[in-house]
Amino acid sequence: MGSTQDTIAALATPTGTSAFAVLRISGSDTLEITKAIAGALPTPRQAHRSDYRDQAGHLVDDVLLTLYRGPASYTGEDTLEISCHGNPYIAQRILEDLITRGCRPAQAGEFTQRAFLNGMMDLSQAEAVMDLIHARSERALAAANQQLRGSLGRKMDELVAGLIGLLARIEAYIDFPEEDLPQEDQAWVKAESQRLLKLTVNLLATNHYGNILRDGLKTVIIGETNVGKSSLLNRLLGRERALVSDQPGTTRDYLEEPILLGDHCLRLIDTAGLNSDPADLERLGIEKSLERMAVADLVLLVMDASKPRPSLPEPVIKYLRPENTFIIWNKCDLVTPNDKPAGWTEYSAVSTSALDGTGMEDLRGALEKRAESFHVELGSDLIAINARHADALARAKAGLGAAIDLLDAAQPIELVSSELRGALAAYGEIAGKIDNEQVLDQLFSSFCIGK
Ligand code: GDP
Repeated sequence: MGSTQDTIAALATPTGTSAFAVLRISGSDTLEITKAIAGALPTPRQAHRSDYRDQAGHLVDDVLLTLYRGPASYTGEDTLEISCHGNPYIAQRILEDLITRGCRPAQAGEFTQRAFLNGMMDLSQAEAVMDLIHARSERALAAANQQLRGSLGRKMDELVAGLIGLLARIEAYIDFPEEDLPQEDQAWVKAESQRLLKLTVNLLATNHYGNILRDGLKTVIIGETNVGKSSLLNRLLGRERALVSDQPGTTRDYLEEPILLGDHCLRLIDTAGLNSDPADLERLGIEKSLERMAVADLVLLVMDASKPRPSLPEPVIKYLRPENTFIIWNKCDLVTPNDKPAGWTEYSAVSTSALDGTGMEDLRGALEKRAESFHVELGSDLIAINARHADALARAKAGLGAAIDLLDAAQPIELVSSELRGALAAYGEIAGKIDNEQVLDQLFSSFCIGK
């Protein structure tokens, strides 16, 4: 990132023709530039109509200016939003003019980075801004909104406060090596470490759900060739996407499409057909299907209800379990209702006809219910951490675990303290706001219990 002293400018809306486009600038020259454009400073937080003339005095557009005075702005600095007509040429002209007036083009995420640097939000909230922009389902939106409002930050505050309390109790004894940590303190330190470890593990467990919320539930469609996988995918999508053919083996590679079912987003992955005796090219397809199954949250095994039990490749069968697999008996239009398909009784299943649409609502309902079963809640909060948080929490977990082991082995308390400090630093990375001074201030104030 460039200097945080610069005044930055960028188009805040996508390029393309639209009703209007918004540019914004942020930084110390904002007021001066605003005055130069509008003639005088408009009342903050009120839309102000103005001609936009470039520095040479040429009229560019009729715009609305909204000024935000720092620190009461998104970035914490003086910020100006310029709404112009949604013509990429106009937006570009204005951006170029702002640059001649001394702004620097903003880099990706730079407005939010400034918001973080100026203490307007913690790191987890800054990340939630991105999640909010990319949310594609009701649940993903709810999780992003809660994180933006500080749900994860508050959880981390709780953990940090707990760990600081723990360190304070321990470190009071480090300066007095002749005194061992009294028995009751030792028991308390261990119990408290275990409590924090459990909370950390619970938070870590939301990572998988976080991935599901951000990317959609990875749902792989498998089955023999010609059972109707592509037809089902098209039915679920509500449009033609996959190639349907009565020639077996026409879906050679795979297709990936998101669908929305109730509050959930599923990422449907259609794979090549699976035959137990595949030709070379199909063998390659099976390998790819297996790769995708290995990282899938859910497998939809499609079978032709009018045919005997399929002969699927052995490695595929080994992978299937009632917990990760859902059976679709397709082509139910070809069998009479009494002709129940045999086997797979321990699996959840629905009967469908991708040809006439029978059972599609049942399938949608059943998949929605399955998707719901992946939902994790921590207390009343919908928290779903991302990979960066998971990495930091895994280190905190390791530190707490090591501290507990050291306590059990009656090792010197300095070593315990060092592990806990490692965990504290890892916690701090999540909100990005813990500084040593804060730790020291609090530690110091609790040191003075008569010592
Ligand atoms: P895939 O190879 O598993 O992807 O199967 P396709 O979707 O390409 O379908 C193979 C053939 O089966 C096509 O001729 C489809 O029209 C037909 N088909 C698909 N679903 C059904 C169904 O529910 N009932 C009947 N009767 N035919 C179907």
